[in-house]
Amino acid sequence: MKKNRLSEEEYVNGILHGDRVTLSRAITLVESSLPSDQQLAEKVMERVLPFSGKSIRIGVTGVPGVGKSTFIESFGKLLVEKGFKLAVLAIDPSSQKSQGSILGDKTRMENLASDKRAYIRPSPAGAALGGVSAKTREAMLLCEAAGFNVILIETVGVGQSEIAVKGMVDFFLLLMLAGAGDELQGIKKGIIEMCDALVINKADQENVEAAKRAKKEYSNALHLFQAKENGWFPKVMICSGLMNIGLEEIWEMIEQYVLKMKDNGFFERNRQEQRINWMHEHIRFLLESKIYQSETIKKKIQDILPEIKNGNYSAIAKARELVDLFLQKQKGE
Ligand code: GDP
Repeated sequence: MKKNRLSEEEYVNGILHGDRVTLSRAITLVESSLPSDQQLAEKVMERVLPFSGKSIRIGVTGVPGVGKSTFIESFGKLLVEKGFKLAVLAIDPSSQKSQGSILGDKTRMENLASDKRAYIRPSPAGAALGGVSAKTREAMLLCEAAGFNVILIETVGVGQSEIAVKGMVDFFLLLMLAGAGDELQGIKKGIIEMCDALVINKADQENVEAAKRAKKEYSNALHLFQAKENGWFPKVMICSGLMNIGLEEIWEMIEQYVLKMKDNGFFERNRQEQRINWMHEHIRFLLESKIYQSETIKKKIQDILPEIKNGNYSAIAKARELVDLFLQKQKGE
């Protein structure tokens, strides 16, 4: 059987030397829920953290079918050709539920996946609250420590994961389609407010005119929003991931954004805030997992579950009781 764990030293050296196999294994370690793995992962993270942070972190979101993987493939190719080392982390919300997850599909990003200058890694959505942020953020930092200087984080733009991703990237890009109403695209106003660029994809062939019209409409609509606190007005652009149209302009815009934000101090301030939020997130994550791992609590929950189901007990009161019981047990230990 393959040794499934390396030593702390082996992980750290491998990552810092940019060894992909070690990087992949380190990400697997970080994703493990075994307490012994988590302890080791924490040590490895501690050691490589000083070597992280030197990348541009970009979130890419949009509903299934909008063309995310095609876009990332072409955009990624453009970036590696420019000499960047690119890591793509794709958060797959279906990975928990089914074997046939979208990312299990080998045809996704096939070209980029075989390119030595790029590294692609699906990131499981995680069962626990904060799962996305906990694991994906650590995977991102490991990639940076391994020398990747552009990180793309892909999420399916329909749920909670966008908010988590927004909390770990420098730039957030929303892909949309012309002609499909916002409702149809499952786009919530909040997500539009969150994005730094709204890009209308598939602007090719017979779609070009519709894409241009949509661009105008969104530009007008976005002007009703206030400029963000960092002084950036979200840009509306059109592109075709399939036909390689408009990708260069998107990259230029991101570079401009980064320059501007570094200049006005927002870039670093945002990262500082993200680190603080990360700590809070992790406190919540740790507390939650500790509570649910406690045998006493597990048993108690099982006991009261039928009554909660029936509505005989107040869920709020019981939740408080359980937390109090947990804290008392901790004190006693
Ligand atoms: P995802 O689910 O968001 O990752 O979308 P995919 O990248 O898998 O693309 C979904 C479908 O749209 C596929 O059939 C693609 O070939 C097609 N597609 C993706 N990008 C474009 C584009 O820029 N133009 C056109 N015409 N089709 C595209």
